[in-house]
Amino acid sequence: MNKVLIIEDNEQNRYLFAFLLKDKGYAVFEAVDGRSGIEMAREIQPDLILLDIQLPDIDGYQVARTLRTHGDLAATPIVAVTSYAMTGDRQKTLAAGCSGYIEKPINPQTFMQELKAFLSTPNKENGQ
Ligand code: MN
Repeated sequence: MNKVLIIEDNEQNRYLFAFLLKDKGYAVFEAVDGRSGIEMAREIQPDLILLDIQLPDIDGYQVARTLRTHGDLAATPIVAVTSYAMTGDRQKTLAAGCSGYIEKPINPQTFMQELKAFLSTPNKENGQ
């Protein structure tokens, strides 16, 4: 089963993301701050990481940079979930090693569709 790790300090957001993912059959793991998120990622080796940027200990940029230094997580899709709408912040998430981003508040109707691109296996060939 595909494992998704949610690193997000806001309980309501965590609940909503988890609900939508579980509904589609994903195994969901949750971390409430950056450091525990990194620890959990190393332990469970998720297929996808949803990463909040504003976290209580270290910010999401630092979480992404740290995750990318671990060889076994170097290619794991990391999707930043950020309330920042400014272009510079988007660039910053990508520069920190994120694979993409979704803006908060998320749209529950399109959320899973947006994640789909990041849930395909790295080895899978696609015709794009
Ligand atoms: Mn937050």
